[in-house]
Amino acid sequence: MNKLKTKVRVVLFGPPGSGKGTFSSQIKKILPEIPHISTGDIFRENLKNETPLGLKAKEFMDKGELVPDEVTIDMVADRLGKEDVKEHGFILDGFPRTLNQTEALTQITDVDLLLLLDVNRDIITKRILGRYSCKSCGEIFNKYTLPPKVEGICDKCGAEIKFEQRSDDNEETLKNRLDAYEKNAKPIIKYYKKKKLLRKVNAENTLKLTENDIIKILEL
Ligand code: AMP
Repeated sequence: MNKLKTKVRVVLFGPPGSGKGTFSSQIKKILPEIPHISTGDIFRENLKNETPLGLKAKEFMDKGELVPDEVTIDMVADRLGKEDVKEHGFILDGFPRTLNQTEALTQITDVDLLLLLDVNRDIITKRILGRYSCKSCGEIFNKYTLPPKVEGICDKCGAEIKFEQRSDDNEETLKNRLDAYEKNAKPIIKYYKKKKLLRKVNAENTLKLTENDIIKILEL
């Protein structure tokens, strides 16, 4: 077997609930050192620490709206400039979300592939409204589709957990988030298609993907 690539620059693209986080974990099993850069996670971390960036992002996140491009682009440019990215590439999750961000990303770095995670709206709704995570280790569960093996106990770290949603995982904000996605997605998809960097994957059963499937999808 040929030696696998050790560096890849991949953008995961899809609506909220399309499984970008889960897909990233699958990639990390094969490329453990690749940085997973989720703009949503960076904003939530800043919010938790009450940084000026977090406080600025909060008013938009609470409504399910996009944080303005000028804030988001600078934050991503900063993260992509770090050593680990130079060495191992990146899995970009949640960025770009507008054409402006897409063009800015091209200025910042080359991208090897944009994976479009394809899932129907019913599945998305179930995934989002049932989603919760362990506060101790961050492992993600789902009330409907992925409960812990023992109720109330985290499979990964054994801590006690209860069903507690992310504050923006509710029906009102979900509608806004899906609308924002649909409005912005088309030109971004077109942009990467034109560059021949677009690859569409069925993401309804991401957890069942084998290592070989991932290697093929990423052309490692
Ligand atoms: P996510 O965890 O990716 O669903 O992101 C949660 C929220 O963070 C979004 O609803 C936006 O308010 C904000 N956010 C995340 N990524 C971006 C982005 N690329 N541009 C603007 N806002 C973003």
